[in-house]
Amino acid sequence: MKAVLIPGDGIGPEIAESIKDITKAMNLDIEWLEYRAGAEYAKETGEVFEPGLVEAIEQYKWALKGPTATPIGTGFRSVNVALRQKFATYANVRPIRSFKGVESRYENIDLVIIRENTEDLYKGIEYKLNENMANGVKLITREASEKICRYAFEYAKINQRHKVTAVHKANIMKYTDGLFLEAFRDVAKYYPDIEAQEVIVDNMCMQLVLRPETFDVLVAPNLYGDIVSDLCAGLVGGLGFAPSGNIGDEYRIYEAVHGSAPDIAGQNIANPSALLLAFALMLEDLGNIEAAKTLRDALAKVVEKQEVVTPDIGGHASTTEFVQAIINEL
Ligand code: NAD
Repeated sequence: MKAVLIPGDGIGPEIAESIKDITKAMNLDIEWLEYRAGAEYAKETGEVFEPGLVEAIEQYKWALKGPTATPIGTGFRSVNVALRQKFATYANVRPIRSFKGVESRYENIDLVIIRENTEDLYKGIEYKLNENMANGVKLITREASEKICRYAFEYAKINQRHKVTAVHKANIMKYTDGLFLEAFRDVAKYYPDIEAQEVIVDNMCMQLVLRPETFDVLVAPNLYGDIVSDLCAGLVGGLGFAPSGNIGDEYRIYEAVHGSAPDIAGQNIANPSALLLAFALMLEDLGNIEAAKTLRDALAKVVEKQEVVTPDIGGHASTTEFVQAIINEL
């Protein structure tokens, strides 16, 4: 198959190399079509996307993306927002797993956050009433809420997970979050074998810190989903191992959650794990569960051994050496 690879800015090209190396080492039937996008490309050419990128995603449907920076104060749009809107990726899926060898407060965490990606306060409907007053619109629709809740329950069913927890604040926002919760309850009825739980977002944050192991799949409107996913990344040691998938009806764009790390770009010391885990997520969705597991296991072994790891997780290895160690474990 053909899929699109967007290396992106900063450390992006260095970590994207690891994807090509692993694809080759694992003999995977994926031909990567590489396209540039982001701030560096915009600086050189005046455009944020290389010509042909959008058409390639339209044609091949699957893409893996490195981090991209948004040129500040130039009127350029964020690559992420543009792609999300163009390809209607309504669900943001973020698995959170503990890795032995990565310093963190908890062990054995394995949960998945499914965040609605198109509406809520992130719709961007806000305006200034006067110098001292501004208003933002929290837009929630039944259609988008049902769609994301259905995705969460289907995800749970396919991945043999047992519980879906809705994150909300419907006690205060009775109409907006109330509608989201109503949609959640309606959808839950069709999945009697999966436990449906409802937790208010503030309590959710406390419960996640106190008892993260009691959660399985979380589904949330855009804003709570954004905040809770970073909280969860913190539970397992930060963004270094956090992948995500942006899922639409037709298109899927996978990426690392971290940014372009300009402070370490070009030094061959970036940790490629999050992008590799995003690739594993993509393989899983492609139905190649075995390859996804092989890649994850090899990565986990190298990290656990702590012999050849990058500086951000306490080692002295380069990106290239780290990737080679993973290849040796495959
Ligand atoms: P960042 O994630 O790039 O960096 C935060 C810190 O984490 C830095 O010290 C960096 O060196 C470190 N870090 C991040 N990824 C790492 C990796 N793989 N290996 C080792 N260390 C790593 O966050 P930031 O500095 O706030 O953002 C930098 C740029 O990235 C900004 O332009 C921002 O807009 C962009 N960004 C893009 C995305 C995306 O494309 N998905 C996400 C977040 C930020």
